[in-house]
Amino acid sequence: MKVKGLDISISRTKYINKKNRAGLTALHFSAFRGNVKMIKFLVRRGADTFVKDNEGKNVVHASAQSEQVAAIYYFLNNHSINIDEGDKNGSSALHWAAYLHCEISLTYLIAWGAGVNIQDIDGNTPLHLAVLSEGEFPIRCVKILLLKGAARLLRNSENHIPIELVNDNEYRDELMRDLRPPTIWKCFMLSVPLTKMKKEWSTLIYFLIFITFLQFGFVMLVYPLMRGHSRPGIWTVDLFLIVLMIIFYVIATIKDPGYLKEDPSIDFQSLLCSTDPYNICPDCKILRTPRSRHCNICNKCVERFDHHCPYLNNCIGYRNHFWFLLFIISITIILLFHIILLIYNVTSQRENLTAHSWTFMSHLSPQIWLICYSVFFLGSCIIFLPFVGILSFVHLQNFSKNMTTNERYSKNRQNDGDNNSVITKTLSGDLNPSQLQASSQARNSNSVVEESKDSNGNSMRETFIGPSNPSCFGNCVRMIKYKEPSQKKMYDEIIGA
Ligand SMILES: [Zn+2]
Ligand SMILES: [Zn+2]
Repeated sequence: MKVKGLDISISRTKYINKKNRAGLTALHFSAFRGNVKMIKFLVRRGADTFVKDNEGKNVVHASAQSEQVAAIYYFLNNHSINIDEGDKNGSSALHWAAYLHCEISLTYLIAWGAGVNIQDIDGNTPLHLAVLSEGEFPIRCVKILLLKGAARLLRNSENHIPIELVNDNEYRDELMRDLRPPTIWKCFMLSVPLTKMKKEWSTLIYFLIFITFLQFGFVMLVYPLMRGHSRPGIWTVDLFLIVLMIIFYVIATIKDPGYLKEDPSIDFQSLLCSTDPYNICPDCKILRTPRSRHCNICNKCVERFDHHCPYLNNCIGYRNHFWFLLFIISITIILLFHIILLIYNVTSQRENLTAHSWTFMSHLSPQIWLICYSVFFLGSCIIFLPFVGILSFVHLQNFSKNMTTNERYSKNRQNDGDNNSVITKTLSGDLNPSQLQASSQARNSNSVVEESKDSNGNSMRETFIGPSNPSCFGNCVRMIKYKEPSQKKMYDEIIGA
């Protein structure tokens, strides 16, 4: 391959690794600019990919400092450069990305295996440096590091943990809140803590014990005492509903929610060079679709992501959302059914009681036992009902609007990305106009995913989300018959094939 205008000067290979006063070579500059074509050209003519400047920074450091993830991938993938290699101060590329608040480099380096808790010669981890830096938007970088397992309590050589280094600036309160160790009762996952998490069975097991006790306990304890007082049909209907609920639960739990998979026909290096890095998930090596989101617990992208449900130990995506809806509706119906039945029993049994019924526990009459059980289960059902009732209502609304809980209640992911002027960070801190232009072009290419038209003239939003104002029924059908966007088709749209 020929790069215009450079063949003559670089034909003398002895100059290819020549350093300037700072120890930087042409390859450093190409890496910093993220020009993969130029990098390949220089490497073919003998450029040393392991070269370091006077500060000990290699080409991965240079690329990471300017958010050039395509260049990082090229060096890591083709030249086996150690991702955690430190400069003279022991700072890895991730340290630099954290210090300069380069969110894209930070995310990609972690996805590709950079150590989040490596300490430099001052004992600082990337988290220390993200907090210490006076740069813009530290919160996103701190959150990413914490979610990926950065330790909150590692001390640097001055004996400081990251929270003790928070500056007195506009982000102070939020940073302090994020850097405190999570204190919630994790097993019930009432909120998602900012810490690395894996799929765990504990919450599912607690939930199963609770639901089994609530449903089967009711059937085993209450119905036998009701014999003769209730129709056998009620018992059958109840058991049928419980069996249905179990079936829905099992399907929603074991079904693949719609994990996005890498398309082997797409070259990842070309993908990185063709689009804005925000459009790509570096963990899954796929193009993010308009309705997908990377689940940090499953560590996979889920198409039409709704939420990660700890009670199912599974994500809720387009493949199991309907089964999840059926599951929560069935619980709501069962609870309502039990509440009505229990209220009826308590009131009807009261008339059958006599003073004799309330003697010693061992001699309590069946009516008294029935009332005791009824009051206990009634209390449990009444406590549990609002949670599942509201959940069912929210998800029925989701289906009627053709939206997910994530789309309705979370901040827009694209906006999150646009709020971060990551490309403006350079080695010297100066803005490079051509780089900004390249960034702007790349960002405009986002619109391929967001706004381009398909072959039928429908916008991509219409293809994936549907028209903005259809009927409730139409939306429900769209939710049930949803089709996963093709990675290949999206890639072809981006490269203009
Ligand atoms: Zn992903
Ligand atoms: Zn998940």
